[in-house]
Amino acid sequence: MNTNISIHWFRQDLRLSDNPALTAAAKHGTVLPIYILDTQNAGRYTFGAASKVWLHHSLEALNKSLDGNLQIFVGDPLIIINQLIEEHTIQAVYWNRCYEPWQIQRDSKIKESLQRQDIVVESHNGSLLWEPWDVQKNDGTPYKVFTPFYRKGCMNAKAPRQPLAIPSLKFPEPFPTKNDAGSLNLLSDIKWHKKMEKLWTPGEDGAAKCFQNFLDTGLEHYKIGRDVPAEAYTSRLSSHLHFGEISPNQIWHTVKHLSDDSNTDHFCSELGWREFSYSLLYYNPDLPCKNLQAKFDNFQWQTDICTLKAWQTGQTGIPMVDAGMRELWETGYMHNRVRMIVGSFLVKNLRLHWEHGERWFWDTLLDADLANNAASWQWVAGCGADAAPYFRVFNPVTQGKKFDPDGAYVRRYIPELENLPDKYIHNPWEAPEDILNASNVVLDENYPRPIVDLKLSRQQALDAFALLKQ
Ligand code: FAD
Repeated sequence: MNTNISIHWFRQDLRLSDNPALTAAAKHGTVLPIYILDTQNAGRYTFGAASKVWLHHSLEALNKSLDGNLQIFVGDPLIIINQLIEEHTIQAVYWNRCYEPWQIQRDSKIKESLQRQDIVVESHNGSLLWEPWDVQKNDGTPYKVFTPFYRKGCMNAKAPRQPLAIPSLKFPEPFPTKNDAGSLNLLSDIKWHKKMEKLWTPGEDGAAKCFQNFLDTGLEHYKIGRDVPAEAYTSRLSSHLHFGEISPNQIWHTVKHLSDDSNTDHFCSELGWREFSYSLLYYNPDLPCKNLQAKFDNFQWQTDICTLKAWQTGQTGIPMVDAGMRELWETGYMHNRVRMIVGSFLVKNLRLHWEHGERWFWDTLLDADLANNAASWQWVAGCGADAAPYFRVFNPVTQGKKFDPDGAYVRRYIPELENLPDKYIHNPWEAPEDILNASNVVLDENYPRPIVDLKLSRQQALDAFALLKQ
């Protein structure tokens, strides 16, 4: 007999350990674990193609760890949860909070509806170290600059909660519904996921292994190594964090416990950037679609977007940009240093609106995250709260020579350039004819010439920026 059932609604917390809402639900009694693919409320922020691949596998892993008890639904969560309440003896609903504006709106409606029916409803913090409203300036307004946000606001706020153990779970007697992840058709319109699937292991176990690997081999090199895209010195935890397969608290307390050197400090501050992005999104719900600095509304973006395709497909003729875009397409991931380089190239050299980049990343990144993506694109474009100044235009050749000096990263993703000597790997158009011949590079045949002149396009961007100040 099923009595005293609590729903735990999994969303961006696809894990059992350190899951505050799940732990609270387990204390209440029998737990009905559900996942709902929301087809009603997300609008343009519905899952991108790469995220769907991750979600599919993550749900499969979660269901396995729940001994096959995960109930999977598709549709409008308000209707689905109300239906469950009508049909079963549900007394409480638990979830961990999400911070995307559309999810906040939807969740408030659901909360009201449940409270009207005298159902216990509890939301918890399962994905941030600090709630946005717990890190504010003394005058009660949100921080707009990262360093004081992190060094002052976060460091003076209450220490992040210690991680929780996996709760002991009792499930209802066999339930009639139950679908598997396959029923969501998340892989149906995707053709390029096979390679990605070999590189990543979505799910809580995969996240734990990825973290352990970083602790074993990456953390000790992090501060300097994090800028070298050919090396695996960063954690690669971003998708696991986005889907909540590991909590930031688990990461934070583990690394802090291991050491407090400059590598750890730097790594923790990157988690701080994540917190900052969430705070920006929370206090600026239009972050994904509106310049934070209104003066950028008058910026003269290029209206002819014929160069966009070359950028998306890694055919710009600038090796560092093309390698990054091809890494993204092949692996669903791009190294942070390279995200900044390709971003700067799009918004400054090509002068295409940052939203083109935001949308392409949204569709192709496995770690696509509304807060991190929008905040980062605004940062790159120079129109964000705490943005790199617009006049700082990354030179992709100089960046390549500095962070990929032997061209290992470029060679990995652009085999056409494999045989070029290091001196020309980042600027093949400047190589003498005999060197190109000897390296089997035929410009505009097997690798394009640059689609823009880097110097000229930089100046044009600066000129367009100067007009904003008048
Ligand atoms: P690590 O260096 O190991 O960092 C650990 C964690 O800290 C990351 O997993 C991530 O959760 C967080 N983090 C690190 N750097 C940042 C940052 N700059 N801003 C916010 N959080 C950060 N990150 C996403 O998770 N999703 C996105 O959609 C996304 N879009 C981006 C778009 C652009 C244009 C740029 C420049 C950056 C974007 N980032 C995004 C931030 C960053 O590039 C990735 O988080 C990072 O590369 C992930 O690799 P990692 O897990 O190895 O990072």
